[in-house]
Amino acid sequence: MPDWREIARQISKATGSTFSPDTPRQISGGCINNAIRLSDGVASYFVKFNQTSMRAMFEAEMAGLLELAASHAIRVPQPICCGTTANEAYLVMEHIQFGTSGDSARAGRELAAMHRTRQEQFGWHRDNTIGSTPQSNARHADWVTFWRDERLGLQLELAANSGLGGPLIERGELLLSLFPALIDHNPQPSLLHGDLWGGNLGYDRTGNPVIFDPATYYGDREADLAMTELFGGFGQPFYHAYNEAWPLEAGYAVRKTLYNLYHITNHLNLFGGGYAEQALRMTEQLLAELGH
Ligand code: ADP
Repeated sequence: MPDWREIARQISKATGSTFSPDTPRQISGGCINNAIRLSDGVASYFVKFNQTSMRAMFEAEMAGLLELAASHAIRVPQPICCGTTANEAYLVMEHIQFGTSGDSARAGRELAAMHRTRQEQFGWHRDNTIGSTPQSNARHADWVTFWRDERLGLQLELAANSGLGGPLIERGELLLSLFPALIDHNPQPSLLHGDLWGGNLGYDRTGNPVIFDPATYYGDREADLAMTELFGGFGQPFYHAYNEAWPLEAGYAVRKTLYNLYHITNHLNLFGGGYAEQALRMTEQLLAELGH
């Protein structure tokens, strides 16, 4: 159990109203962090915690939630504060009572609206993490350079440095030199969730969609859409509504493999094992598209 009394003091400070919670309840289900719910019977907060060294990860997540919230397009948990106690780093946000199902068409429409929030350049004003892997958001005017240097290239380098990739490294490097031919649709820098698998979408008790646990940056909106397809769970009404609000462009079906290769290589770096084969399969599929 984290030092919840100290965290409650920080919540009081951040909200300007005294918060004296009951003994907290542990919440299960996180991939990276532990979590508790803090409640005084009136106000409730969801608190993630981890080792003190993870403070920057929580700061970046808080900044990401604020950025997504500022688009006023889709519900995200309102972040309250983050910091460290003597023994852990923590992030406090609004606690959301999740229901079991909701309006997935609305999720599609609202995600499209969020993607209409734009910046001049690809990247973001700060780095963050994808899972627990560092994610560089160094800004670039050009999406191809961004995807090569800050996304796929970095994951391949991590895999090579840990001796994980095998043939993936050589074939991946070839792909890095050729994939620009796949990106001919002039993507704009859209506000992205960045880690939009099914586990990071929920529905509140009124059935409205909520996205959480972001790895925010500005990039090709297709990268978010691709990740929704990687592990599934979004349903046809979601895609239908997204496409009605903002149709996807020709070539997406091929590019989605390129975008998901980043996540699968990240999974290889985080978990090892069978992801090497999957990453190689995806790389070969893309190289075949390019005639190699
Ligand atoms: P991790 O960073 O460890 O992956 P998540 O942010 O995915 O953790 O949260 C873990 C689980 O906690 C989620 O799957 C969800 O069920 C629940 N959860 C996340 N955010 C909230 C919230 N604001 N309120 C209530 N429950 C939440």
